[in-house]
Amino acid sequence: MSDTTPLTFLATGSWKWDANQIIAYIKDACTSPSVDRVGKDGKQDLREVYAKIILPSLRNRDPFVRTGEHLVHIDVRTKHKVEGKDIRIPITYFYTALGWIISMVQSPVAPNPNIERILAFYVKWCSTVGKTYFRDQPAPNTASIAWLTLMEGQDPRAVCSPHHNIFSVSCSLPGENPAKLKAAKLRYEFLMRALAPRTLPPAPRFGQVQSDNSTCWVNWGHCAETLAVLCVYLDVPPERQMRGLAIRTDAIEAAPEFRSDLVRKSKKKICDNCKVLIKVAQIAYEDHCSTMQHEEDMNRKKREQDAKDKGEKAKERREMEERRAKEKIRELKERRAKEREENEKQRLADEKNQQARQRQEAADREAKERRDGEKHRKSNRR
Ligand SMILES: [Zn+2]
Repeated sequence: MSDTTPLTFLATGSWKWDANQIIAYIKDACTSPSVDRVGKDGKQDLREVYAKIILPSLRNRDPFVRTGEHLVHIDVRTKHKVEGKDIRIPITYFYTALGWIISMVQSPVAPNPNIERILAFYVKWCSTVGKTYFRDQPAPNTASIAWLTLMEGQDPRAVCSPHHNIFSVSCSLPGENPAKLKAAKLRYEFLMRALAPRTLPPAPRFGQVQSDNSTCWVNWGHCAETLAVLCVYLDVPPERQMRGLAIRTDAIEAAPEFRSDLVRKSKKKICDNCKVLIKVAQIAYEDHCSTMQHEEDMNRKKREQDAKDKGEKAKERREMEERRAKEKIRELKERRAKEREENEKQRLADEKNQQARQRQEAADREAKERRDGEKHRKSNRR
């Protein structure tokens, strides 16, 4: 495997790879992996999965490999050893094989791994190969990623310890066929072995009545999380916490390119079966869907508060403007009243002046008449 092969998985252009390009990647990853990355055991398992699952499933155009009634599966090792012993998980069909291969050759990833991008690219590749090779069968409707992360305050660089497979991707079992039931049963048996001496109760979803009154028959082993959790959970150091995220696959399959909101919009809450599985396995587990939901709720609340604040400010401004307008009207009224008062005063003053003038004129007239009468009398006496 060339040094650049692991990088091509998350490259923007690989979103649009056709099935043959993806299969070439799988071949390269399985037949010439870096032993430093996957170990000698990993190298052997990758070759076996490629020869016994990948190639026959593509050749037969069936994601499950069957020989007669028998379902072919390979028990691969994960990157963990618990108390020095290998942990094995069953690879039962093409899509899980692809998830496990990616997890083996890509993990551990660089600091700040983009978990959502890894999950989305895995789903896209499953869909691209499925559309070309497994047209008669539906693709898995749910995919999941589990990863280890540090508790708050710890150095994020420590995540990339070469000893830990820090993420694992997997998907639900596709189709309605006997192979699917056999695969689920195999997964269940491995779960029981890994969890022993603890035991799983009857699966909560099996026989559960849904809100639309239909009955759900999802038993142990069907979930996308089953393998992803199993791969990462084992031997989790106490300072680390496992996180996981499941998504619906439809929107991602249809997306022409990777967008960061794709995964957020497709997120799925952890199901009742997986909740019980996590509890029985005693994993410190955080459902990333709840974290994303919490972020979205907080953002929505903030937007609503901002809108409310904006509304209140607008109201305050409106009230102030109303107050100002009223004030102006009052001032105007007062000014008018004052003007009227002044005019009235002026009118009264004018009237008074006129009366005084008239009185004066009358007096003048009278005086003149008196003088004229006097003159007349004098001339008559002469
Ligand atoms: Zn589940």
